[in-house]
Amino acid sequence: MGSTRRIAVSLTALLAVIACSPSDGAAAPTPAKPVAEDAGAPGIGDADFPLDGNGGYDVAHYGLRLDYDPGKRHLNAAAAIQAKATQRLSRFNLDLAGFDIGGVSVDAREATYSRSGDELTVIPAQPLAKGAKFTVKITYSGSPQPIKDATNLGTYGWITTSDGAFVVCEPNGAKTWFPANDHPADKARFDFEITVPQGLTALANGEMTAKPETSGGKTTFTWREKHPMVTYLATATLGRFELREGRTTSGIANLVAVDPEFRSSLDRLYTVSGQVTDYWSTVFGPYPFSSTGGVVDNFPAGYALENQTKPMYGGFDPDEGIIAHELAHQWFGNSLSVRRWRDLWLNEGFATYAEWLWHEHRGKSRAQQVFDNFYARPATDPLWGYPPGRAKPKDLFNESVYTRGAMTLHALRTEIGDGAFFRLIRQWNADHRYGHVTTAQFVALAEKVSGKQLDRLFDAWLFQPRRPAA
Ligand SMILES: [Zn+2]
Repeated sequence: MGSTRRIAVSLTALLAVIACSPSDGAAAPTPAKPVAEDAGAPGIGDADFPLDGNGGYDVAHYGLRLDYDPGKRHLNAAAAIQAKATQRLSRFNLDLAGFDIGGVSVDAREATYSRSGDELTVIPAQPLAKGAKFTVKITYSGSPQPIKDATNLGTYGWITTSDGAFVVCEPNGAKTWFPANDHPADKARFDFEITVPQGLTALANGEMTAKPETSGGKTTFTWREKHPMVTYLATATLGRFELREGRTTSGIANLVAVDPEFRSSLDRLYTVSGQVTDYWSTVFGPYPFSSTGGVVDNFPAGYALENQTKPMYGGFDPDEGIIAHELAHQWFGNSLSVRRWRDLWLNEGFATYAEWLWHEHRGKSRAQQVFDNFYARPATDPLWGYPPGRAKPKDLFNESVYTRGAMTLHALRTEIGDGAFFRLIRQWNADHRYGHVTTAQFVALAEKVSGKQLDRLFDAWLFQPRRPAA
């Protein structure tokens, strides 16, 4: 995620909601029943976000069929989720906020369910054996509601616009439009079939699998993201759009879409997105996905999100810096994803440092100059009080996670030299492509590639609440 205003953001309101219902999700009828042992957990195990995601299974694929009427703000939907049980399951949870549920089945047999807050508990007709592959199908309908954290994070999830919807979900807004194991620790592949009134365009991740089909005044778009993706990166942004399609100089498919209000951004976004994608491919390693691009919608979010293959820019004309940032996330955050939110600097520190590298590449400013400007801030500056290596759940997107995260990488580059540093970055991507990463893994690889002992450098930059010594 990148902000146009670099505001400090917090999840206070969201956490208050979570704190109100710590035990709701388990939905165990009575603690005495032994069946509870076979129940999937209501959270995936991230202590900072105890009800995000769920335990007991691993999703392989989401098949989402969405029919949205912007006039009525009504979504009619069906989700088919293919998963594997990682334990015996008498019941398991999904995350879903709002909606009326039409029906739930597991392996084509009707299942019962219960709801509590954003936890949907599914009880299959027969318990699932450990290791069993299963498909849960859920039909649901209603008016999707975004998550609002007015004082800090802003609005995210399924956001209604004047002509459709702007769909950006970090950190946990996927549940506002589909039942999900809504935490980055569980990646899956996605197919989307999105029906909208004729004249509108529906944009999702990956590539279109067929030409849009129109009948009865409605058009259906089918998209497939064939690479693993975390739930917060999924999108179904829809409305009136002008499109430009083609390939980057190196041959990667490039699709850019802009709301007619941002018509003047179309060609530049297309060109710069292609240039950035090609350049990062030479710096970070091969582009991990099958297409690149970007979308500018007219919702004034004041931020952009790095949605896989299609970053979403919320209501502004993106400059080169933020395009470089969001496309760097395709490697850092999207291909390599955090297993726990506390390690978010592995996304944001890297994407922010990529902005500095882009400016260096374009001859605008040296990364060292940018570093020096931040380092000159007084010792009392909040940047030094917030250690970026441990993102706080109530202040996840703090400036330190971005800026001091980027400074950490620059300090490392200075310490080990350009040769080792860029070898490390490419090795990091190659080793963990489409997987998950932790800070400890990065520190270990940095020491291995450089042959240096780096504990003190990382500890000072990532974990101490004070400005590191020069
Ligand atoms: Zn970002």
